[in-house]
Amino acid sequence: MTDSSRGFDTLAIHAGQEFDPTTGAVIPPIHLSSTYAQDGIGNLRGGYEYGRSGNPTRTALETQLAALEGAAHGISFASGLAAEDALLRAVLVPGDEVLLGSDVYGGTYRLIARLLGPWGVTLRVVDMSDLDAVAAALAERPARILWVETPSNPQLKISDIAGLARLGHESGALVVVDNTFASPALQQPLALGADVVVHSTTKYLGGHSDVVGGAIVTSDDALAEQVRFLQFAGGAVSGPLDAWLTTRGIKTLGIRMQRHSENGEAVARFLDGHEKVARVYYPGLESHPGHALAASQMRGFGGIVSLDLADGAAARRFAESTRLFTLAESLGGVESLVNYPDAMTHASVRGTELAVPVELVRLSVGIEDSADLIADLDAALAAI
Ligand code: PLP
Repeated sequence: MTDSSRGFDTLAIHAGQEFDPTTGAVIPPIHLSSTYAQDGIGNLRGGYEYGRSGNPTRTALETQLAALEGAAHGISFASGLAAEDALLRAVLVPGDEVLLGSDVYGGTYRLIARLLGPWGVTLRVVDMSDLDAVAAALAERPARILWVETPSNPQLKISDIAGLARLGHESGALVVVDNTFASPALQQPLALGADVVVHSTTKYLGGHSDVVGGAIVTSDDALAEQVRFLQFAGGAVSGPLDAWLTTRGIKTLGIRMQRHSENGEAVARFLDGHEKVARVYYPGLESHPGHALAASQMRGFGGIVSLDLADGAAARRFAESTRLFTLAESLGGVESLVNYPDAMTHASVRGTELAVPVELVRLSVGIEDSADLIADLDAALAAI
């Protein structure tokens, strides 16, 4: 039932989710089998032979992911970083360079710098929200990949996907967008000209902080085949239960993102007016430098809000003082989380050009009652 003329929420619920033809079970079963009977050598029933090369539950998820991004191919992995690793190794050869946004998930930087660096891949960092800076960097030297995260993690910078796709393509680069923060419910980078979308499905797609996963989504047939080969030959596949949990989470993605965006905006406006908050980073605020661009390329501003306190000590105290917001890594679940990037999610970029300000705290605003969330933040601010 992957009819691309259908609306987003219909696709989220039905793409790849046909009822079981033998029993009529409305919810497709979780296929745990690691291997599949053959009717004669090489004569496969549904194209499945072994769990690493293919699994029907994973196929259901991959079909759903492709439909949500308006793509031909979805390829799912054991984690977001496993997906990124497969994509990078499918595309890059020694001597190639990645032009990376200056504010991205620390693990992406670590993967390129420390895993691929020793294999001869180089890295340059540029502010992707500044098209002139990107054009200048590409004019100086072409790159094989332009790696964009928008909104970025954790400073919520907004980059012009269509503009970057144009610049990247003019110089022969593959344009990759990490769409984890927005999710396809709020932003569809392929429609704006990007070549590949990357997801940590651990976040909004799974949506319930109970599964780790990742995905590569693209309409480029040749690239998809290369990434699939890496998925098969490298083996970092998502397991059946993980794939199933992710498909279940995705069915409510649309309404969750609406509520995350409403709560994110309410929290951002509250913090924006608070005397102890030095700065609020949220693209839904009119004062955010990327507000107009976000409004034009997104369908909502999402649930991630970052803020600066007076200094690092105040930021740490605040992050340790909330009660409803749980102090934890990760984001995108129904429950609210607070994170201190400098020592948690972005510890791996301390001392690099991607270092996060020590006074910054990142909130993943959940879908609880916004009044309760604001009361919790108010109390934590009173405690610092
Ligand atoms: N991309 C972004 C924007 C992330 O925030 C993360 C993890 O926090 C990743 C990629 C990596 O995903 P995973 O933790 O599922 O490997």
